[in-house]
Amino acid sequence: MSLERYPWLAPLWQQLLGQLRQGRLPQGLLLTGPTGVGKVALARQLAQRWLCKGDDELPCGRCQSCQLWAAGTHPDFRLLKPEDNGRIGIDEVRSLQQQLATTAYLGGRRVVVIENAAQMTDNAANALLKTLEEPPSGTLLLLTAARRESLLATIISRCQHWPLPHPDSGAVLALIDATTAEGVELSALCAHAPLMVLALLAQPQWLPVATAFLQWRRDGRHSGALAELLIKQGPAVAAMLWQLAAAEWPLATRGAALELLARTAAALQLPGRNLSLAIHQLLADLAPLRQRSATHPATGVSPWVR
Ligand SMILES: [Zn+2]
Repeated sequence: MSLERYPWLAPLWQQLLGQLRQGRLPQGLLLTGPTGVGKVALARQLAQRWLCKGDDELPCGRCQSCQLWAAGTHPDFRLLKPEDNGRIGIDEVRSLQQQLATTAYLGGRRVVVIENAAQMTDNAANALLKTLEEPPSGTLLLLTAARRESLLATIISRCQHWPLPHPDSGAVLALIDATTAEGVELSALCAHAPLMVLALLAQPQWLPVATAFLQWRRDGRHSGALAELLIKQGPAVAAMLWQLAAAEWPLATRGAALELLARTAAALQLPGRNLSLAIHQLLADLAPLRQRSATHPATGVSPWVR
């Protein structure tokens, strides 16, 4: 993954690169921003550049380190992200610390990326403090989170904070092929939900669900097909739908729709919950709130979100 899809991050990249080249990059960095803004892509590119033996602006792609990176087998790169239970536990942090207590395999730099660091349990976060306080020489720790405030104050104080800039619609539009049916749908959404569109682009398997959702919202038909798609994708799409509805729903019924979506999203996190039942129920509950003519025929942009 590279930052080509995230042109608004270019100035930030130059600043980080400048610090790196001058040897002033702190060992703990916290990258924050909402879904789709490019946190993980930035963290990964910085991680690869940190390990690269070259001195180009971007990772060279030719050195031993870059080749190991491309193969996904770099022994001095460690990724921590939430497990199936949605949390990063203390065992993961302890295992990381054991690895950091040994010498780097390539004898040089090491890098740790902690995706969605707010999902660390308190025990995991407290264990990580020691590492953030005195990271082994040559080790870079990159944490990502939606919001800085979701982390322990003690973690925040040990990291340099880099909030990622929000893209504008134009920047996102430039990434979309508006000649396809999906592109036209996404272009309409770009006017008011560029971050959601980016999230969709980053996870193309969500695109059919979003398209089906938009279709259902327009004419209320094919709710069974939409339910099937949602069930297949699992709880992750509930969060995506929430964002979609927040941007797209008519103002008059938006509050009620959001409440329903939030309730369903929360219910879907419960183990043993009947996903199929929950989603069918959600669609039935949302139906009366649906706006009949959601999209303005001339511009493709919802008229109420101006
Ligand atoms: Zn390289």
